[in-house]
Amino acid sequence: MQAKPLVVRDLTIHYYTLHGVVKAVRGVSFAVGRGESLCLVGESGSGKSTIGLAVLGALPSNARVVSGKILINGVNILELSEKELEEIRGKEISMIFQDPVASFNPLFTIGQVLSDIIKYKLGVRDKNEAKKLALKALSEVGLPDPERIYNSYPHELSGGMLQRAAIAVALATRPSILVADEPTTMLDVTLQAQILDLLQGLRRKLGLALLFITHNLGVVAAICDKVLVIYAGSVVEYGPVDEVLLSPLHPYTKRLIECVPRSSVKTSRLKYIPGSLPDLRKDYPGCIFAPRCSEALEKCSRIAPKFVEAKPGHFVACHKAVKAG
Ligand code: ATP
Ligand code: MG
Repeated sequence: MQAKPLVVRDLTIHYYTLHGVVKAVRGVSFAVGRGESLCLVGESGSGKSTIGLAVLGALPSNARVVSGKILINGVNILELSEKELEEIRGKEISMIFQDPVASFNPLFTIGQVLSDIIKYKLGVRDKNEAKKLALKALSEVGLPDPERIYNSYPHELSGGMLQRAAIAVALATRPSILVADEPTTMLDVTLQAQILDLLQGLRRKLGLALLFITHNLGVVAAICDKVLVIYAGSVVEYGPVDEVLLSPLHPYTKRLIECVPRSSVKTSRLKYIPGSLPDLRKDYPGCIFAPRCSEALEKCSRIAPKFVEAKPGHFVACHKAVKAG
């Protein structure tokens, strides 16, 4: 059987700061198959972007992968040199970010960026051939008049158009994996839906393994097959999207779902989860969510719950949920 394009095993990442060592990612494992999309969900600061950057081999210099493996098409990228990584980045794995403006250098046209990538990553030396492929990449993401977009500078495009162009750049080299870190957060709702539709279509057409990062559960329902819920750098729940959203097992997931505003129901206040993320410089012997958990048992803050398959394909790390099941 062919290996899944992206496999992450027991990944632990620390940041070294003036105020101490921030243990941002704590033993995270997951895999994304061809044509599959996995959402990483969790509150701000839970370690989602850190995982995304690690998978791209692009962590900031003060970060250290303490343990684990990141296998891209079977190769552990943590054992590669920067030169070898550069070969994989862009070619086998690409990333799109929240702010499409930041993805582009204001001094270059969209066409220059695309042609350069096609030249260097795909080795297409012929200028006309590179332009042809660039225009194809632009029309593939639904941009009208690719020739005009090709000759435009980033500031000449709207946010939605620029995010489409960023997707064109990310996919022009035909990577097998796309990491999308909150790619619709800065767009208005109609544009959000269009970009999600586009990503869905491209995922199916190109058989992309999509790692989608978001804190928005509405977006999760729209785009994902599977969901991985992380809290303070630890995986608390994993399963098929319908299972996790309709029958959540972990109290943290339940609270996150309760916090989604429902426009059909008139409520006077927005809900939130009381308390805040724990101090990530510390170690926690038990469940890291226990101090904020309204369902915590006596042993929760002492003994770490195992990550177990509570229902077929639906995993949870919670003493209470497993006991109840
Ligand atoms: P958000 O939803 O706000 O984007 P996130 O889930 O993506 O949050 P991360 O950006 O991965 O979270 O951050 C995880 C933790 O690591 C946070 O405590 C954050 O402060 C810390 N962190 C992130 N980047 C750095 C850095 N370069 N140096 C030090 N600490 C960092
Ligand atoms: Mg982030």
